[in-house]
Amino acid sequence: MTGNERPIEGLRTAVRGRVLIEGDAGFERAALGWSVGVPQRPRAVVEIADAEDAAALVRYAAAEGLTLAAQPSGHGATTALDGAVVVRTGALNAVEIDPENRVARVGAGVPCGALLEAAGAYGLTFPAGSSPVVTVAGYTLGGGLGWYGRSRGPGSASVRALEVVDADGVLRRISAVAEPDLFWALCGGGGDHALVTALEVELFPAPEVYGGRLVWPAHQAFAVLEAYAKATAGAPEELSVWCSLMQFPPFPELPEPLRGLSAVVVDAAHLGPAEEGRALLAAFEAVDGVVFDTRGALPPAALGMICAEPTDPMPSLHRGELLTDLDGAAAVLRDLAAAGTVHPLVFVQLRHLGGAYTRVDSGACGPVAEPFLLSMMGVTPGAEAAAGVAATLDRIVAAMGPVLAGRKPYTFLAGGERVSAAFPAETLERLREVKRAYDPHGTFRSNFPVLD
Ligand SMILES: Cc1cc2nc3c(=O)[nH]c(=O)nc-3n(C[C@H](O)[C@H](O)[C@H](O)COP(=O)(O)OP(=O)(O)OC[C@H]3O[C@@H](n4cnc5c(N)ncnc54)[C@H](O)[C@@H]3O)c2cc1C
Repeated sequence: MTGNERPIEGLRTAVRGRVLIEGDAGFERAALGWSVGVPQRPRAVVEIADAEDAAALVRYAAAEGLTLAAQPSGHGATTALDGAVVVRTGALNAVEIDPENRVARVGAGVPCGALLEAAGAYGLTFPAGSSPVVTVAGYTLGGGLGWYGRSRGPGSASVRALEVVDADGVLRRISAVAEPDLFWALCGGGGDHALVTALEVELFPAPEVYGGRLVWPAHQAFAVLEAYAKATAGAPEELSVWCSLMQFPPFPELPEPLRGLSAVVVDAAHLGPAEEGRALLAAFEAVDGVVFDTRGALPPAALGMICAEPTDPMPSLHRGELLTDLDGAAAVLRDLAAAGTVHPLVFVQLRHLGGAYTRVDSGACGPVAEPFLLSMMGVTPGAEAAAGVAATLDRIVAAMGPVLAGRKPYTFLAGGERVSAAFPAETLERLREVKRAYDPHGTFRSNFPVLD
């Protein structure tokens, strides 16, 4: 064993959880995240057994000069993790709901869908994003722009306290009062400053939720985008409406009208009674030719199902941009729809922000002033497909030029992008100061490191 290998081999005795090192059976797959197309090359993967095991791991890493990269599920996989020890937190899967105080304590491996399910049993909910399988940790530590954000602010605004292992390997509970700088950095700064083992998040009542998906053939994009402008212009903060161009695959498991369809799609969630939600979406009723409509009263836990996003790992490329204006973005979508399909992309989506996003000062995420978000994704089964998707993403972003805010939402950063694309200069400088103060030897590394 060389001196270089010794600290890595020592992981096997330093922790109680499973350790996989290059050459071990299963290492190649374990090294990849949910976005399996990202060729991550960590030195080892450690599945920590519990919070004490996490502390033991950090103490060992600090002593041996190893770098730790928490990656609960890997929707945000990047090669910034190369050479680090990837930390999987799946065993930290406890969800405890305190309905009286409307607080949930969730382990760092808990997916958003599991939190929604547990909170929903008490008529409570959480401002989760579109996917039920991203973790509460990965989502909120990066800010988290999703459903209900227009009335609650980003996901990070719901975090009340964090249980962390700091760079000295000490388990601590931090909040805006206890260690305010570290807490500020972790709430939206991406997890570059400590290893989080659990989160306490605020819940809120969801006595009635209305929402679902409406689908038309893509040739109705012009009319749907007009209705989208009307619906969002007058939307109360309880309503979130997203509009997408989509290319559905020809899979037999999809409902018949969607198979292979080039479509224009509206996804909506309203925190309120069904009749109110239906009335708020009235502009869309006037558009003929709906082929699919799942709108209705929803249990709070169904929030993560509205967009029916794939939950199994897949190779994909995505891109996110904050936008200054709807009109210019809608013009780009109309041009794309006129071409017939967004293939090789799966979707080009506009999300309405505004409301509480602009007011809630939520840690490093800060307020989000931009009124719309562009999110795009394509599946990349091979190098040729990846090149086609990347070129299409570039082309659409270029066409959006006049309405690009010049800032990207942190949780939507893609491999190859830098953290400086997501934060104003003064926020990034503060994140770097907190990094130097709390992790001076670089024991932790996020998927978009603040010192990059
Ligand atoms: C299909 C899909 C849908 C999405 N929808 C939305 C959406 O609606 N809104 C939105 O905002 N984003 C969305 N995203 C982006 C997603 O929220 C981020 O990529 C998020 O980080 C992924 O969560 P994860 O559990 O997969 O995190 P991972 O990719 O596993 O980790 C991401 C980063 O989080 C940090 N981190 C995670 N756990 C810890 C921990 N315990 N301690 C310290 N740091 C930690 C690390 O820095 C890590 O690199 C979506 C992504 C996909 C692929």
